Amino acid sequence: MLTAVVGVNWGDEGKGRMVDLLSRDYDMVVRYQGGNNAGHTVVNGFGKFALNLIPCGIFREGVVNVLGTGMVVDLEHLWDEITRLRERGVNITPENLKLSEKAIVCLPYHRQLDILEENRLGKNEQGSTRRGIAPVYSDKYHRKALRAGDILRGGTLSGKAETILGFKNALMRGYGAPEISLGETLNWLSEYGGKLAEFITDTELLLEDSSRNGKNILLEAQLGTLRDIDFGIYPYTTSSTTLAAYGPIGAGIPGRRLDKVVGVMKAYSSSVGGGPFTVEYSGEASERLREAGGEYGAATGRPRRVGPFDCVASRFGVRMQGADTLALTKFDVLSYMDELPVCVAYDIGGKRVTEFPVGDELEAARPIYEYLPGFKADISKCRKPEDLPRAALDYIEFLEAAVKCPIEYVSVGPGRDDYLVMGR
Ligand code: GDP
Repeated sequence: MLTAVVGVNWGDEGKGRMVDLLSRDYDMVVRYQGGNNAGHTVVNGFGKFALNLIPCGIFREGVVNVLGTGMVVDLEHLWDEITRLRERGVNITPENLKLSEKAIVCLPYHRQLDILEENRLGKNEQGSTRRGIAPVYSDKYHRKALRAGDILRGGTLSGKAETILGFKNALMRGYGAPEISLGETLNWLSEYGGKLAEFITDTELLLEDSSRNGKNILLEAQLGTLRDIDFGIYPYTTSSTTLAAYGPIGAGIPGRRLDKVVGVMKAYSSSVGGGPFTVEYSGEASERLREAGGEYGAATGRPRRVGPFDCVASRFGVRMQGADTLALTKFDVLSYMDELPVCVAYDIGGKRVTEFPVGDELEAARPIYEYLPGFKADISKCRKPEDLPRAALDYIEFLEAAVKCPIEYVSVGPGRDDYLVMGR
């Protein structure tokens, strides 16, 4: 069984929470793209954790967690994350955590270049998390990056790094910034590469073997459809492919078809960083929802922009992910609302639009709302569909019809067991 858990919206849907839950039925969990620019928050018996790089299957005994080939990995950050988890009693060994030798290494100069570029842009900044992700993915496709396996082949590392720094320092001079030192770069690689060497391996062989031997593999995405580099709200996207279709490639099992795609969809909307966000609330409505949902970035602590559920964007999100089934998350957060606004279409220059637009049209879009009755009850203890108030069931059915996909799971709290299965 090969399953992908992906984000339908702008990210922060609660994918980590769903992977933590679903991984009980899987042998391996693989992160297939992105770096430490976003975080997955998991609340379970061990406590509350914000994971930036390590897959959310790490809390399950016997589950092998892989940082896949499609990722960009800041080794210093990875080492910190391993250390922090170990300090809190989570068992991490080369048996349950593996880093693909082909994953790209994100270095301190990538972070520095991210900051230099955002500062150069000033008030037009792209809203980067400043973790070096756009510079390191650019280097990957420019073929001027180091891969984790390069660290194991010490003899050629220095020459490779020197060639790359020739290029990077041309850029540093352009910014008027001090040049990157080869010595410091090699020291960093030796320090963190040395600590992590035992985790670096050929994960493709392992995944292929596991897949052939009938093991269950879960692919874990970072961010959501609307941040996808190709189909998202470019240029306010991330620098990688967040879609399920990329999952097998980014993991390292390209010949395998996905058996199931679980789209994680939030009961309302949130977005962190810049870009068009049609349903954005302002003033008191925004503060109320942000507080109710605890909408602050897991990686950066930035307050997230929030608003009602957006059927236009979510239907597009479900379609591009090819979701077979959905997990509706943070439903409990809406319990304070008297009525539940749902954006059913956009008004663009007086025209009613129901397909997700791009570019200037999206920027010009205004939301058209319908209002459903609020359920006005604490649903966090509901564990079966029959426990939910009628108005909550109506909301679920409305969303299913709007996005054209069944909702299988409903999450009503951050804890591992705070969910119900719709069973239809
Ligand atoms: P991810 O990146 O998609 O994993 O999402 P984040 O971790 O950035 O954001 C989800 C946040 O919502 C985390 O703090 C979770 O603990 C929390 N969360 C997830 N599901 C639920 C839910 O159903 N109800 C509530 N109240 N919180 C939830």
